[in-house]
Amino acid sequence: MITFKNVSKQYPDGTTAVKNINLEIKEGEFFVLIGPSGCGKTTTLKMINRLHDITEGELYIKDKLVSAHNIHKLRWNIGYVLQQIALFPHMTIAENIAIVPEMKHWKKNKIKTRIDELLTLVGLDPKQYRNRKPSELSGGQQQRVGVARALAADPPVILMDEPFSALDPLSREQLQQDIISLKEKIKKTFVFVTHDMSEAMTLGDRICLMKDGEIVQVGTPEEFIQKP
Ligand code: ADP
Ligand code: ADP
Repeated sequence: MITFKNVSKQYPDGTTAVKNINLEIKEGEFFVLIGPSGCGKTTTLKMINRLHDITEGELYIKDKLVSAHNIHKLRWNIGYVLQQIALFPHMTIAENIAIVPEMKHWKKNKIKTRIDELLTLVGLDPKQYRNRKPSELSGGQQQRVGVARALAADPPVILMDEPFSALDPLSREQLQQDIISLKEKIKKTFVFVTHDMSEAMTLGDRICLMKDGEIVQVGTPEEFIQKP
């Protein structure tokens, strides 16, 4: 689904954030990028939707080489959940979720139905929440809306960059459970960044451990436990 071929990333200031990585992320899997702060996880994630350019190498999504020409079209197929909760404060929950469907010119009724379906999916009662403003929701609830928004137009790929890091431990645990049930309900390819090994073990079908911009190990949670 997503293939990195000899991909490197150097920032304009000379920092080499990612060094010659090769990766094959399979369709429908929950793929976790883990490693200490500064090891290149976010850079790797952002190269997938070209929020960061690639310095060397090639990236393929569904066998299509990602280039400056087709990235705008490809981005429609990639949902993105950020670390910071990033809802538009002046818009209602429903309006926040509707952003991408509206850009895609979906019919009003279809959007309405989709909003209610998504709120239900992430555990928020549509009647109670759709017309509220983000500030009337807790951090955990806002982040659930962030997940709903990323899923809105049903993209096959969802990128998540430490989506729980701004949350208190309880909300974090609840949202983790939500993501677990979500990944069973919807067939999507998830790429998930965290520095928390237990989170990686709980959520990941496969885990990719990075260090200093390089890949140390890729494997299932079981394979990580077995490694001495
Ligand atoms: P996040 O992980 O929240 O997406 P950033 O991508 O903003 O964070 O930054 C990740 C790391 O890169 C941080 O350690 C930050 O200090 C560093 N960083 C971000 N921007 C720059 C920059 N322009 N120059 C040097 N280091 C940077
Ligand atoms: P992680 O997500 O694992 O914390 P990052 O991918 O954010 O790591 O960062 C990898 C390396 O690239 C770090 O050394 C970081 O400081 C550097 N870096 C990140 N963003 C920038 C930037 N915009 N400019 C320069 N260096 C950056």
